[in-house]
Amino acid sequence: MVQARRKSVMVEVGGVRIGGDAPVVVQSMTNTNTEDVEATARQVAALADAGSELVRLTVNTPAAARAVPEIARRVADIRGPVPLIGDFHYNGHLLLTEHPECARVLAKYRINPGNVGVGKNHDDHFRQIVEVAARNAKPVRIGVNWGSLDQELLARMMDENSRAARPKALREVMVDAMNKSALESARLAEGYGLAKDRIVLSAKLSGVQDLIDAYRALASQCDYALHLGLTEAGMGSKGIVASAAAIGVLLEEGVGDTIRVSLTPPPGGARTEEVVVARQILQALGLRKFEPQVSACPGCGRTSSSFFQEMAERVGRHIRERMPVWGKECPGVEELHVAVMGCVVNGPGESKHADLGISLPGNGEAPKAPVYADGKLAATLQGEAIIPEFLALLDKYVAGRFAGRG
Ligand code: SF4
Repeated sequence: MVQARRKSVMVEVGGVRIGGDAPVVVQSMTNTNTEDVEATARQVAALADAGSELVRLTVNTPAAARAVPEIARRVADIRGPVPLIGDFHYNGHLLLTEHPECARVLAKYRINPGNVGVGKNHDDHFRQIVEVAARNAKPVRIGVNWGSLDQELLARMMDENSRAARPKALREVMVDAMNKSALESARLAEGYGLAKDRIVLSAKLSGVQDLIDAYRALASQCDYALHLGLTEAGMGSKGIVASAAAIGVLLEEGVGDTIRVSLTPPPGGARTEEVVVARQILQALGLRKFEPQVSACPGCGRTSSSFFQEMAERVGRHIRERMPVWGKECPGVEELHVAVMGCVVNGPGESKHADLGISLPGNGEAPKAPVYADGKLAATLQGEAIIPEFLALLDKYVAGRFAGRG
């Protein structure tokens, strides 16, 4: 069972609440060149349409900083406003001070204490960013990443560790250094005038166990809102599984206020997949409900032809296509559970447990497909039109149970 959420300070980001008693927020990041206003606006809109409640974009050059206000306008024209987060490295202090409209339009700034400058410059640049944030009443995510960890801090901690009576393993020192960097930076930001309810922390690593250890420690040492994500998760099933494992364990323990799944899309692949995965993680854990769930058995030697797979795919697609309307007109539809099953072994049982389920005939069974609604036999389908007839039953079920509620 998911444990009670860790108590964190609530941070408001462009109308979206992170932390406190707010639901865990889904966010994502663009991979377009921010200087390309049109491509970036289209991708922000696509990510938001997929369910990303906040979208981060790279702000790395003066041209990118100049593009941000126009991107925000275009996104608002395309699909309504989306809170944008600016991702700053190395020159954030310059871009934010020299481009006040960019600083004003962004809903949050993300900075990395490992690359805001070294020595005295570090504190100077950090202070400039924090002052811009405080002046504009914007929150800041202090995002430590093990690939760009503050090297002075790490070297100092390694030295101290080597002199300790019982030196820790390198991995433990790294995790300690990540958390120390995040917490020291947060306190520095507070010292420069940023309120606690304008600070979000993250400490991202690419190893699942390292990430879990880092966040467990961070969560026990502070009440800042936490952004969770496995950095450089990778491609395809590896990235999805590693992210789900790391983020899932932490969320199960009540740790984490907003998540981002850092998937590498295949060439030409959809950037929105990271949003789909993030939402699935939250829905699988029962933390959020976004859309109806379709249970489908995996199929086996009893499954007759590819019809079963085709039907499961069509039902899922039908739900996704209907959701923009159902979401508005059928409150509570996201609770719906549909089952598409392949044969008599588990088909009738699973279908009866679902709100609406169909048990297709397996090899050697009579070519009939019983449909169950709320556990009772509602229809028996057969012939060529099983799929459209089931989709019509689904529409009717949703209309009868959810339309006009609320
Ligand atoms: S329900 Fe039937 S077809 Fe589906 S996996 Fe189980 S035995 Fe195989």
